[in-house]
Amino acid sequence: MLSSSYVGRFAPSPSGPLHFGSLVCALTSFLDARVHNGTWLVRIEDIDPPREDPKHIKTILNQLERHGLHWDKNVIYQSERQTQYQLALDGLSTRKLIFACECSRARLRQSGGVYDGRCRERQISFSDSAIRLKVPQTYLYDRVKIFDRIFGEYCQHLASDTGDFVLKRRDGLFSYQFASVVDDQFQGVTHIVRGGDLLESAPRQVYLQNCLGYKNLDYAHIPLVKNKHGQKLSKQNQSKPAQVNRASSNLWAALAWLNQKPPQSIYGAPVTDILSWAKSNWRLQHIREKVKQMGS
Ligand code: GLU
Repeated sequence: MLSSSYVGRFAPSPSGPLHFGSLVCALTSFLDARVHNGTWLVRIEDIDPPREDPKHIKTILNQLERHGLHWDKNVIYQSERQTQYQLALDGLSTRKLIFACECSRARLRQSGGVYDGRCRERQISFSDSAIRLKVPQTYLYDRVKIFDRIFGEYCQHLASDTGDFVLKRRDGLFSYQFASVVDDQFQGVTHIVRGGDLLESAPRQVYLQNCLGYKNLDYAHIPLVKNKHGQKLSKQNQSKPAQVNRASSNLWAALAWLNQKPPQSIYGAPVTDILSWAKSNWRLQHIREKVKQMGS
């Protein structure tokens, strides 16, 4: 029975099938929601068509189901939510919190990825331009701190770490930062559990939540699974898809990787048995211990 106010979500982009690293994230987010008697949602982040292929959506949903990671409520698709993003953007525009930017890629590269505010006060037309959110330029006012349940305290100075960041790209596509914040609010998400590569996005998202008048969320970022060359597993470097006919052993391996210490005796057990062991024995603390060991 779903009884708590906890709402978690898994939000894959359809740039490829789930690999072991994304399965670890899905499983962690699922178990954290289930042990809190929470709701667990799936959102397909299909807002960047050049980097995606719709054929992966069916594969991802099938992979989740075959691994026993059943979601509550209907899946939502970011490709269908453009009107809502535009409305949220218009709200920020009325409050003069955004501006149009016509800086070229070459110019942005020169500034090392931290936007220097060049177009802030220029009156550039919003059509065919990138749209950026103004971040405070005064030291300390630009400081955003989060308390991550796995990594602990994490802080950024937005002015020097990111600068004014993009909400809508010049090609008309909304940015991941913006769409995910609008959707987390829309879906009533309270807890975010996802890959550690997104920890550095959290302060920007918290700042956006504040600008939009949304509630701040609870964060837990999972250390990244790496391949033998020390690279993050990713769809881009052709990491192998998690095979559905190996669901039970994939789950066992994911639990072992998460330092949950699954016993050998459940290796190869039916998916439902593995998940029910995992729910009864789930300890986020064990992931924190893994992070400490990795750091030492
Ligand atoms: N769509 C992102 C990804 O596939 C995850 C976004 C999130 O969890 O905030 O990496």
